[in-house]
Amino acid sequence: MKVISILGATGSIGTQALEIVRQFPDRFRVAALTAHTRIELLARQIVEFSPRLAAVSDQDHASRLKALLPADTKVRIVTGEAGYQQAATLPETQMVLGAMVGAAGLLPTLSAIDAGKDIALANKETLVMAGEIVMNRAARRGIKLMPVDSEHSAIFQSMAGHSRDEIRNILLTASGGPFLKTPAADFLNITPEAALRHPNWSMGSKITIDSSTLMNKGLEVIEARWLFDVDFSRIQVVIHPQSIVHSMVTYQDGAVMAQLGIPDMKGAIAYGLSHPERLFLDIPAPDFPGIGTLTFEAPDLSRFPCLALAFQAGEAGGTCPAVLNGANEVAVAAFLEGRLPYVGIHAIISEVLSQHQIDNHPDVDEILAADQWARRTAQTLLRN
Ligand code: NAD
Ligand code: MG
Repeated sequence: MKVISILGATGSIGTQALEIVRQFPDRFRVAALTAHTRIELLARQIVEFSPRLAAVSDQDHASRLKALLPADTKVRIVTGEAGYQQAATLPETQMVLGAMVGAAGLLPTLSAIDAGKDIALANKETLVMAGEIVMNRAARRGIKLMPVDSEHSAIFQSMAGHSRDEIRNILLTASGGPFLKTPAADFLNITPEAALRHPNWSMGSKITIDSSTLMNKGLEVIEARWLFDVDFSRIQVVIHPQSIVHSMVTYQDGAVMAQLGIPDMKGAIAYGLSHPERLFLDIPAPDFPGIGTLTFEAPDLSRFPCLALAFQAGEAGGTCPAVLNGANEVAVAAFLEGRLPYVGIHAIISEVLSQHQIDNHPDVDEILAADQWARRTAQTLLRN
């Protein structure tokens, strides 16, 4: 029996993780669940999974949650950053699933690592902002850090049985998103509705927009750099519209190992939670004769400049990836609210990065300060 805490239980990853817990009640028990604003869903989850602790953003949401729960529910409700950190560090918790979206995941994940918890990490922004610090602390504490992002799970699986110095490079696959074939001129009129229609994956809104701009792939390049300790020069992005090959690793003899499957995050989530075992899942294998053709192409950086921006910020290092991420979060939210045209997302991030004075060796506080600076600067640019 593995005792887990789920940070971001009400999101796309969180709810799919709970489906796995529901399917394997003898393997997983939930000790803590956290949410931000989706209180009704969290209340239903508490009734079903009986966690000892639940964390929400503030006192208002806590009161609403309390009112929704049957009177005899035995759950402690805590709030805010301190509450999220409590959920991440409960004594009985063995593994923490980091499934919050965005920079909010960084501090709870670091607390969980410092408390010696194993981590299954979906929240890529944590590694983008502070990959070096996170990986060093995880190594020092001797905890297991399992990737949940499907590409990184695929890379991890493709590395089994091999040593790192045998690797030539990593091939990170990307579906290309809904605008893979959209002519450059039409990018000016892209609406949130169109950008939220991902061809292969159903995910939270922020990552869906990131997938459409290829910023998601850029964040994943930085995530891979830290997870697998490879230089940026050895990470290559390959567009693969069918999303069957989840990513690949090339070895020094030219052999390529890949992990394949239908696009279903439950596979990667379950593997993150249960490694080194594989669970019996009701996910069909790809129907290769039915699929017929798998295709690959290079990304078009002129229509998807966010990918190039992420490589540049990653290579610059220091506080730049945190600034890239913070500016992106603000720009994506503004686009979703109709306050910024689609092409403005890249323009805002690029401008914020160009104004940034890099700190080459930041600690966590300096990273958080750079994130806040990036958000303020992006908001100022949005107003003008
Ligand atoms: P989502 O928007 O569906 O859910 C986000 C979760 O985080 C919710 O439970 C929400 O309550 C919580 N949350 C949001 N803002 C918060 C805040 N400020 N403080 C505390 N909690 C907050 O997101 P998602 O699609 O499930 O993605 C979660 C993470 O997993 C992201 O980092 C994403 O990049 C990564 N990821 C997601 C998928 C996917 O298929 N959805 C795939 C790979 C990686
Ligand atoms: Mg991914």
